[in-house]
Amino acid sequence: MDIGSELYRKTLLTISGNSLVEKLTLKYGGKLAAKFIASQELDGALQVIGDLNRKGIMVTLDHLGEGIRALSEASGYREEYIRLVRGIEQAGVNSNVSLKPTQMGLALDPEACYANIRAVVREAAASGNFVRIDMEDSPYTQATIDMVKRLHGEGLTNVGTVIQAYLRRTQADVRDLIQSGVNLRLVKGAYKEPAEVAYQKKSEVIDNFKAIIRMHLDQGVYTAIASHDDTIIRWVREYASANRIGQDKFEFQMLYGLRMNEQARLASEGYRVRCYVPYGKMWYPYYTRRLAEKPANLMMVLQNMFR
Ligand code: FAD
Repeated sequence: MDIGSELYRKTLLTISGNSLVEKLTLKYGGKLAAKFIASQELDGALQVIGDLNRKGIMVTLDHLGEGIRALSEASGYREEYIRLVRGIEQAGVNSNVSLKPTQMGLALDPEACYANIRAVVREAAASGNFVRIDMEDSPYTQATIDMVKRLHGEGLTNVGTVIQAYLRRTQADVRDLIQSGVNLRLVKGAYKEPAEVAYQKKSEVIDNFKAIIRMHLDQGVYTAIASHDDTIIRWVREYASANRIGQDKFEFQMLYGLRMNEQARLASEGYRVRCYVPYGKMWYPYYTRRLAEKPANLMMVLQNMFR
């Protein structure tokens, strides 16, 4: 990453960890966060999914929450996820689900976390749906991969995870997971990671991102490429076209509230596009990661503040 943008990202992530900043944002920032959060309730989120589907955009639905402090919170999230899997089926919308391992208790009790996620994956399997386990910061990388492989070992293959291009270990993980038949979403990576585990230069992250995309496309393995970056999107389109890789072999994913016109445009050109739609009340950490990614996102919020 270049020094300016990396400094901005690290500064924002550090400021957002301050408890006073968190309190003030939670008190006054709800309306501003609405730009990135579909709804506080499931019903509202299902309506948003319907609207996106009508534009040809598929969805992955996320119930916000992470880094819980007691296991009882994890059971609450598990039940909400079961409710949302059923809600998707009843509403007949085109959406799978995304969840975070620390929301299900990974930092507190890995076995309980496994049981919670397994319950959600089983519920999704019953309606032919798919669960994406988001990837959090590097202390959880191996445990997350292990859980997904264990679920596949139990015959629950309707679950995949996310691989972050900024991690140095990533190419080995992709080789291993492709071998294990695990469906992957590929991203740059959103957390503050030290140089020992993660590339710090933007050019290195992009090179690694392209390398892991190629590892999928060259072998005809379906993948999700999650990025708002035109450099990446253009490169994927050109690479696929030059190598006669069909539009059905990959999907683009973007976040709700970001580049919505671009999402609709890609869908209208026949690309598979999936929008990551978050809903719920625990929006603070998700929201601050979005602001940290791009000064323009912060500017957009500041401009709205003064409207
Ligand atoms: P950036 O590196 O932020 O920006 C690069 C360039 O893209 C910019 O200079 C600009 O030219 C263009 N661009 C970016 N945003 C915009 C915009 N809003 N409008 C116009 N141009 C823009 N991270 C994880 O660590 N774990 C996960 O599980 C995870 N899941 C994700 C799921 C989805 C669907 C998406 C989209 C991202 C996810 N991420 C996840 C976040 C990801 O790791 C990156 O932090 C995030 O996507 C920012 O990187 P980027 O490639 O989108 O673009």
